Amino acid sequence: MRKAGIIAGNALHFGGQAIKDGMTTYELDKIIHDYIVKHGAKPSFLGYGGFPASACISINDQVIHGIPSKKVRIHEGDIVSIDVGAFIDGFHGDTAFTFAVGKISEEAKQLLRVTEESLYKGIEQAVAGNRIGDIGHAVEEHCVSYGYGVVKKYIGHGVGRQLHESPEVPNYGKAGHGPRLVAGMTIAIEPMINAVGEDVRVLPDGWTVLTKSGSISAHFEHTVAVTPDGPVLLTKPTL
Ligand code: MG
Repeated sequence: MRKAGIIAGNALHFGGQAIKDGMTTYELDKIIHDYIVKHGAKPSFLGYGGFPASACISINDQVIHGIPSKKVRIHEGDIVSIDVGAFIDGFHGDTAFTFAVGKISEEAKQLLRVTEESLYKGIEQAVAGNRIGDIGHAVEEHCVSYGYGVVKKYIGHGVGRQLHESPEVPNYGKAGHGPRLVAGMTIAIEPMINAVGEDVRVLPDGWTVLTKSGSISAHFEHTVAVTPDGPVLLTKPTL
């Protein structure tokens, strides 16, 4: 899983570094796809449930699952959420990051910072003996303190031989509640945080999830192993 995780993490940040004003999300997806394949892995998302691309690329008010397209261009001032999965030697790694394109608003900067911080607050709770609710509670408490909307309709998940496994890992919850974490579990923690309101809607394409309020949204994700020595990030890039 470490191997799959590093390829996914590196593909994500290789793609992030390639973002340029005016490029299409199709071009960005191709860069990520080629990176994964060049390193001997398969893009986990390609064909998953019929998804037609290797990365989910979601701009501004898109929360997750944006479909790369030759018709969608990235512009200076956008925030671009990229979600990447890689499969190799029987295991998946799953990771996401929201990139700023050039100069972004102070509002957007704060949303990115707080959402990423909330991911690490969740990861800190991924300790054997804790419960799933400890993770969600930590994420939610941090984001709600800024008045942000924590998306509840989509959540994190177990990950391993399958891209999505049990347990469910919500970004909300009650501390001390839910399934107990044991060493050896591998989970994807992935806060999806809206600047305004938690409600989302899905485009007629059946995939793209947007904020109902029209506000921007951020998404950060790591695949994390629960170990006797605490949480270990499996999707940390090494580039
Ligand atoms: Mg995921």
